[in-house]
Amino acid sequence: MDPLKALADAERKPYWLDSPARPEPRPRLDQTTSADLVVVGGGFSGLWTALMAKERDPSLDVVLLEGRRIGWAATGRNGGFCMATLTHGLANGLERWPDEIGRLERMGVANLDEIEQTLERYGVDCSFERTGELHVATEPWQLDGLREHLELISELGLDYVPLDQEQVRAEVNSPTYLGGLWERSGCAMLDPARLAWGLREACLRLGVRVHERTPVRSLRDDGTTITLRTPYGAVAARQVALGTGVFPPLLRRLKHFVVPVYDYALMTEPLTDVQLAEVGWRNRQGVGDSGNQFHYYRLTDDNRILWGGYDAVYYNGGLVKPEYEQRDETFVKLAEHFYETFPQLDGVRFTHRWGGVIDTCSRFSAFYGQAHGGRLAYATGYTGMGVGATRFGANVMLDLLSGESTERTELRMVKEKPMPFPPEPVRSGVIQFTRWSIAQADQNQGKRNLWLRALDRMGLGFDS
Ligand SMILES: Cc1cc2nc3c(=O)[nH]c(=O)nc-3n(C[C@H](O)[C@H](O)[C@H](O)COP(=O)(O)OP(=O)(O)OC[C@H]3O[C@@H](n4cnc5c(N)ncnc54)[C@H](O)[C@@H]3O)c2cc1C
Repeated sequence: MDPLKALADAERKPYWLDSPARPEPRPRLDQTTSADLVVVGGGFSGLWTALMAKERDPSLDVVLLEGRRIGWAATGRNGGFCMATLTHGLANGLERWPDEIGRLERMGVANLDEIEQTLERYGVDCSFERTGELHVATEPWQLDGLREHLELISELGLDYVPLDQEQVRAEVNSPTYLGGLWERSGCAMLDPARLAWGLREACLRLGVRVHERTPVRSLRDDGTTITLRTPYGAVAARQVALGTGVFPPLLRRLKHFVVPVYDYALMTEPLTDVQLAEVGWRNRQGVGDSGNQFHYYRLTDDNRILWGGYDAVYYNGGLVKPEYEQRDETFVKLAEHFYETFPQLDGVRFTHRWGGVIDTCSRFSAFYGQAHGGRLAYATGYTGMGVGATRFGANVMLDLLSGESTERTELRMVKEKPMPFPPEPVRSGVIQFTRWSIAQADQNQGKRNLWLRALDRMGLGFDS
């Protein structure tokens, strides 16, 4: 189908947020008050932090301040792949923290199990389905990558099933597939906006004071408390947790470590039973292909297909702007790739197109830290894989604020920081050249040029 025609009626807004289940915003903060803990940011990072702070100590007075609406940013716009990995995939974790990877994998699976248990405990209905993820190869060189991956996995005893071409097409029927690997328990599919709203509800039930449309403009350290100023009120906090993602940081040092990268997605109309039968997909896994520029896709509970990824766009200057959330060039490309992957779905149209901004750092996985004499903690840099890992990051922030040493705070992964990005305009030049090199590698059987190999050797990179 002509991609332009297929996109013609697609709404320019995130599918998940365009829902009657979206709750009315909580009132702004309009007074001067105090609290034991103020959490800044109403995405997954902030919501998990506030919720678990109350679970750890119900007597704690916790305030959550969100500048716009709960879950409006990356949290309400993502693919909904809730993964066990804490390290942006096994290969990245193994390369950076080989001595800890077994422990990190175990802690990641425990984190995913605990997310599932939390949803049951609070009755959060976010269509959580622990289907796993299917990694598919669409080029011969990607099969080698999957084979290498399998060797790593077998050493760690993880639950992966290798699939040959016939087997992978029996799972999901695409003529482009050459083989695959089904990671069976390390990933769940969910509706991210309904998860965020469910966490908001759970926070409110435990007594967290949630204020939306309340941007924090500044922090002032008074020696014993930190005062957070907002346009209509202020809070004096004994402790602060920042879950502010990629947005202009309240802690200046963070701006050297995180850059905004835009990622885009489409949603189809619901498939008919006949269309779904033509694709198979009975086990409803999330799917990711294995290029450096990869697509991710999955079914929703009403059998639409979310189709995203491929382009990861850094706009020179590194600003976060609403106009970057739409990119027609990318939407057309994504639609073309969709029909190449599923020619049997020719004629299926798209109902939504949107983009969102990712907090990319040079080690691809979150980093953590403290400031203001230990009274403030932060976690950011999830680089496009934070649906599950933000809960782990929230626990790290609470551990750090408690001042106690835990299994989490003793991890090298938690103690180390990523390499900072160079300042602008060098930053834009370096990132755009890296993006170009990555695209070239995909055109050239995965062969990485001198620049990418040098970055690999330094443990640096650029990813969505
Ligand atoms: C298109 C897309 C697809 C993705 N797909 C996946 C996926 O399938 N799986 C996966 O694991 N990850 C995915 N991600 C990444 C994932 O969505 C994020 O890692 C995760 O949502 C990060 O949550 P967060 O709370 O840290 O950040 P955010 O969701 O960005 O929330 C930060 C919040 O802080 C608020 N804030 C910032 N500054 C202030 C301030 N000064 N005062 C008050 N509030 C403030 C913002 O308004 C915002 O609501 C995707 C991301 C995108 C954009």
